Amino acid sequence: MRIIDKLYIDGAFVEPHGSELFNLVNPATGQVIGKVTLGDREDTLRAIAAAKRALPAMSRTTKVERIDMLRRLDAALTPQLEAINAATTEEYGAPVMIAGRLNGYAMGAFKNAIEVLEAYDFSRWINDAEVVMQPLGVVGIITPWNSSTGFICGKLAMAIAAGCTAVIKPSEMSAIQTQVLAEALHEAGLPPGAFNIVNGRGEVVGAELSANPDIAKISFTGSTAVGKAILKAGADTLKRVTLELGGKSPTVILDDADFAQAVPLAVMAGFANSGQACIAGTRILVPQARLAEFLPLIKAAVEAVKVGDPRDPQTQVGPMVSVKQWERVQGYIRKGIEGGATLLAGGEGRPDGLEGGYFVKPTIFADVTNDMTIAREEIFGPVLSVIAYRTEAEAIEIANDTLYGLQAYVISADAERARAVASQLMAGRVLINGLHHEPLAPFGGFKQSGLGREMGVFGLEAHLEPKTVLGRSRAA
Ligand code: NAD
Repeated sequence: MRIIDKLYIDGAFVEPHGSELFNLVNPATGQVIGKVTLGDREDTLRAIAAAKRALPAMSRTTKVERIDMLRRLDAALTPQLEAINAATTEEYGAPVMIAGRLNGYAMGAFKNAIEVLEAYDFSRWINDAEVVMQPLGVVGIITPWNSSTGFICGKLAMAIAAGCTAVIKPSEMSAIQTQVLAEALHEAGLPPGAFNIVNGRGEVVGAELSANPDIAKISFTGSTAVGKAILKAGADTLKRVTLELGGKSPTVILDDADFAQAVPLAVMAGFANSGQACIAGTRILVPQARLAEFLPLIKAAVEAVKVGDPRDPQTQVGPMVSVKQWERVQGYIRKGIEGGATLLAGGEGRPDGLEGGYFVKPTIFADVTNDMTIAREEIFGPVLSVIAYRTEAEAIEIANDTLYGLQAYVISADAERARAVASQLMAGRVLINGLHHEPLAPFGGFKQSGLGREMGVFGLEAHLEPKTVLGRSRAA
């Protein structure tokens, strides 16, 4: 049983003022594996005050000093990869294969920030005006449970690179992962208050960060509903925000696609992170003329997906993070059936032999139309929809007919043709013929998938405010 009863504030592990105990559950077994004491508003204020005290010195650090801090964070984190992977599998239920990938991104975060910083000029001239990029201030970092370490490290790396200080509020369901991470990052020996970590509830700690006048910016990853609440709460203090929100991403399979490539790709994109991924390709758009050929192939591929013990290296889909999430996904499967879609594979209930944990049958529906609930709302579980289209123009129209716009996938025998389709898709990132990733390219959503961009130079500049200084000539 893990007991987590400290918060990380002002460079030290401290007793929380809050006293609420929250159970940590292994979703593969449903067993309680730990307890975390949640911080309250007072703890949040204490962390904000520490970050505020650390800000003047931090904001004046040179590029070389920030690179040194990022190197130390990277060096402190890297040896803990195995411990972080183990915590991710036990507490979140990520299959080892997925945990390794998720935390692999985390491991790159500080190195990526160093690369960006090395090439970045904080001062530039526009005629005789000098434009200086200045750190925004104290950043509130609020993260979800589905890739806790990756989101925290990615956001913290850019805050430090910009010369900001931070108060981090991870998901309360990620407290074991947070503890392993906090102990690792503490070893980097950053100035006290440079970053602080407060476990707690969103409506307590997150809400205080979102409204507090000493927080200059919120960097949030989570649901669209909470993102909107943060935007509203931050309006009175005109907070800067970066919001990485939900998705309902289309996988557009063009009529020339090789199904031997397209089917496994669509399954992998759809079931990424056990379906608990904002970027999951959950609407699979297939040409009507090739539907009869496609359906048996995708049915077989979904039935072959290995769901089960996340510690098994062969497992592709693990449990849902919580019983609440399990029930939510079951509810959507029911809505799919009641809404008139055809259940091709999977369905309600737990897979055979997996009655103990929060496991869902990998599920796929055919005969889905884009107006059905399962095609419109983010399910956040392994539930996919096949939607038929007649023409390429109709495929693009269906792909864009969503409130979201985080990611899209295009599969075609002709990459140039896919590129032409990509140019018409309203999505922050379009992947052609593969599950590609470039950590220095901007990441974020169109429409209700978010506001602003993370990663690379875009992510750095989202933590900076341009200041124009006039009256000194460029030659001086
Ligand atoms: P969530 O929105 O419920 O919670 C995210 C975080 O916000 C948690 O730390 C939570 O405690 C906090 N929070 C809750 N209420 C709050 C409030 N009123 N004020 C401030 N903070 C509050 O999301 P979740 O269930 O943890 O994660 C799943 C969601 O995250 C999905 O919608 C998914 O699409 C989204 N997500 C988006 C991305 C992206 O990059 N776009 C990545 C991963 C997950």
